[in-house]
Amino acid sequence: MSSHIVLGDEALALGALHAGLSAAYGYPGTPSTEILEYLQGNSPSGFVAQWCANEKTAYEEALGTSFAGRRALVTMKHVGLNVAADPFMNSALLNLKGGLVLAVADDPSMHSSQNEQDSRFFADFAHVPCLEPTDQQECYDMVRAAFDLSEELHLPVVIRLVTRLSHSRSSIEDAPARAQNPLAKAQDKHNWMLIPALAKKRWDHVLSVQGRLLALSEVSPWNPLHLPGGPKAKVGYLCTGLGFNYFRENLPEVAHPDRVPYLQIGQYPPPADKIRQLADAVETLVVLEEGYPLVERLVKGLLPTTVRVRGKLDGLVPRSGELTPENIRPALGLPLLECRSLGLASDLPEGVCDDADSSLLPGRPPQLCKGCPHGDSYEAIQDAIADFPDAVVTADIGCYALGVLPPYAVPETIICMGASIGVAKGAWEAGLRHAVAVIGDSTFYHSGLTPLIDAISAKAGITVVIVDNSTVGMTGGQDTILPGSRIPAVVQALGVEADHIHVVDALPKNRAANARILRQEIGYPGVSVVISVRECLETLRKVKK
Ligand code: SF4
Repeated sequence: MSSHIVLGDEALALGALHAGLSAAYGYPGTPSTEILEYLQGNSPSGFVAQWCANEKTAYEEALGTSFAGRRALVTMKHVGLNVAADPFMNSALLNLKGGLVLAVADDPSMHSSQNEQDSRFFADFAHVPCLEPTDQQECYDMVRAAFDLSEELHLPVVIRLVTRLSHSRSSIEDAPARAQNPLAKAQDKHNWMLIPALAKKRWDHVLSVQGRLLALSEVSPWNPLHLPGGPKAKVGYLCTGLGFNYFRENLPEVAHPDRVPYLQIGQYPPPADKIRQLADAVETLVVLEEGYPLVERLVKGLLPTTVRVRGKLDGLVPRSGELTPENIRPALGLPLLECRSLGLASDLPEGVCDDADSSLLPGRPPQLCKGCPHGDSYEAIQDAIADFPDAVVTADIGCYALGVLPPYAVPETIICMGASIGVAKGAWEAGLRHAVAVIGDSTFYHSGLTPLIDAISAKAGITVVIVDNSTVGMTGGQDTILPGSRIPAVVQALGVEADHIHVVDALPKNRAANARILRQEIGYPGVSVVISVRECLETLRKVKK
């Protein structure tokens, strides 16, 4: 055994490698990116660790690995699971051969995301097990357990991470590495073909194993129940994920901490019998969970109404944003910590410390790097749309989304990967003149092709500006799945007329010339594509190093 100081993401990656992983696929997205990056930098030769066009293709490629009898990991951020939802949901009905683990990292508080959806719901929706680590060691240990569980049940297993765990570092102890599975194709191909007659049988099978999932949760070492005995306690705690860490951190301040009953849930579905045992020992049950009130809702349906259940739904615990050691203190009957009394903020103005979530640091809104090529693209767009007072500019997910902030303040919509083109088309069809979609090269390959096909088919009068910085800049400079130099041929092959495809250099000296081309194409009543090319400065700096 040896020790490693690793991020939560890296601990999961190392655990997967030591669990006999053969292939890993993913799409970069904060806070999950470091899982695949670690595998790419630390895996043996012959091992597959690849970024894919999007999360859906990544999941499907992992299914191929499982079909071949080998263990596969898929990584993505929470909103990526929306993209991969189709193969993910259907994979629950397959008779998986090699273990398949989906590591999905949620972003409560939306540090770098459009929403804070809770991926545990997806596991519940698909009727598959989910594991939720509380620290880096559990990230390492749980992934091996997840692969074993996947092969035992022939189901995919979800591991749900959150930003604070993915991106914090701690020491872990490793375990002896397991060999990869031999190549051995699934023989029961009827269980891999989801035509209705066969899928119905598979769905019945998924339902029939739900009792087994629950039984496994009841005895899982990840679901320890602490019942100190004695008279009924006033309050007991049901904690999941990081909520358990924050509970543990504050517990010593509670009167008689060793007499406080609690249940930690790290394996889902939640263990109903253990929850009932805990409820029998307390008057009030407080649920501390990171994300949506999934367990709290379930518990309310499980327990008699004589047990009071408190948590996010009644406002005892904040409903939005991350849990913190501070903001759960009222749930333990503890006062909020006064930052002044700790001597941390003697010069802060009155009122700054009143909110438990107040930061002692001034806010630093994100912004484009100084000299970023996207700034030059936006300046040219600003100049061009000045001639079209009713124009709408829709943008997409990537660094260029920051063009929403001054000094550019150009885009009016940012929704999800690829939405810029579809929204521009819909707005144009509704009568808005004119519509410009701004999308990055990687986002275009991820989800921009299909809405562009719609726009071409409908002969929509939109202009698509593909800001090609030759990288996935926002997540640290991963390679775009294909070179941007292929985009002109791709869009022409889809049906954009050659005269309305332009490649321009996003250089400050070209601002007027680029604006002229944009103006001309925005006025054109068909689909036009302007590819505004200049490499991301950060990536360029890394390459030079
Ligand atoms: S990382 Fe690259 S693309 Fe992103 S803002 Fe900085 S220079 Fe621009």
